[in-house]
Amino acid sequence: MTETPAEHETEAPPASGGQGGTEEFVQHWRNAAYNCFSSGHKFCREVCPVMQVTRNESWTPTAFHANVVAMEKGELEIADIAEDYVNCTGCGACELRCPNTLFTGDFYRFRTRTVDLVKAVRALAVDNGVHQQGWQRWNLLTDERTHEPVLGDVPVSQEHVRDWSDGLNLPVGGETVLFVDCEAAFYRTSVPRAVAQLLQRADYEFGLMNEQWCCGGPAAEMGYTEQAKRFARHNLDDWRAAGVRRVLVLDPHDYITFTEDYPAYFGDEYDIEIVLVVELLAEMIRDGRLTPSVPVDRTVTYHDPCRLNKRKGIWKEPREVLSAIPGLVFHDVDRVTQWSYCSGGGGGLPVEKPELTARISESRVEKAAGLGVDTLVSACPWSERPLSEAGDARQIDVVDIHELLAESLGIEVGGSRGR
Ligand code: SF4
Ligand code: SF4
Repeated sequence: MTETPAEHETEAPPASGGQGGTEEFVQHWRNAAYNCFSSGHKFCREVCPVMQVTRNESWTPTAFHANVVAMEKGELEIADIAEDYVNCTGCGACELRCPNTLFTGDFYRFRTRTVDLVKAVRALAVDNGVHQQGWQRWNLLTDERTHEPVLGDVPVSQEHVRDWSDGLNLPVGGETVLFVDCEAAFYRTSVPRAVAQLLQRADYEFGLMNEQWCCGGPAAEMGYTEQAKRFARHNLDDWRAAGVRRVLVLDPHDYITFTEDYPAYFGDEYDIEIVLVVELLAEMIRDGRLTPSVPVDRTVTYHDPCRLNKRKGIWKEPREVLSAIPGLVFHDVDRVTQWSYCSGGGGGLPVEKPELTARISESRVEKAAGLGVDTLVSACPWSERPLSEAGDARQIDVVDIHELLAESLGIEVGGSRGR
């Protein structure tokens, strides 16, 4: 659902900043919590990827809301519950499934916002000095390096953030810049290389940022709100200094951060156009600026990234791209695309609980295997690592949609596939 949220839903959640703020938090979230608690039908549980593999009642959206009711009554404190809130990938499936999400014209507009609630509880925990060790370390390293400490051969640092583009002769600055997420910039460098060369093939002008930092989205998801805002400020200032009007994004997580977090941080000051690369590529194929002609002989299905499909309603364009590639046999998921499966790779889950991410990815790959495909196509660099590991066990190749399109245009992408 992509309707504009009601006004009360766009208010910033209570600010973090070391004040504690439990009372403020409870006041902000109590109506939403009672809205869930008093109905309690639990429709959300069966679409929750964490619930699907763990069946743990404490890790359901229902429990996430009920805890707020208990906090209001003084029966629980943040330290009692913070650890439960690790178990969420931020996929947004529960919000879609919740019948209490209602948009009935001017009369009643309400959206269940479990993803924001989970983020707010995590922020409250950090404000109260309750840290999850893995997240604390991850964000300290991110702060030190200005990029997430992704694993790979390339050292993660400011000095190396543009190394992925070696030999492509990309300018710095301009009206349009390409933002590359940390995983792709340092680990899966073949993805941004494919994107850059596709845009060059279509004569689309763009540059790179002068000094790009992590978007700050992961810090915000893990509760490190101050850090997230500081990183966002840096990136916006960098765009301003270079006269940037438009930012191209290839990663669904960056897309959510730039279209939801940044507007909440900066309000009217934020007038940057955010363009999702896969949508731009679909348009270029439609307009004849890119014409795939090299056959790619694979039988594929598509993995909808949660942040594109469930949270942003973007599912058509990636399918348009795939259907334009000659030689591909495409078997789509066997249920309404909105309910597409999660990889388990989001919301900081792989940092704290890699074993749970692995189980969710295995379940995702099993669904792909059921369609008789040899390849699972993803449009999200953060999903690819866990999906590839699960795919190896079933001889299912996991490939990136941009790279696949580049192959069908005869482009030798280069770069690292992270393994
Ligand atoms: S989140 Fe929505 S679907 Fe889930 S129990 Fe609460 S009200 Fe019901
Ligand atoms: S956002 Fe996804 S993982 Fe988190 S509670 Fe909802 S369905 Fe579960």
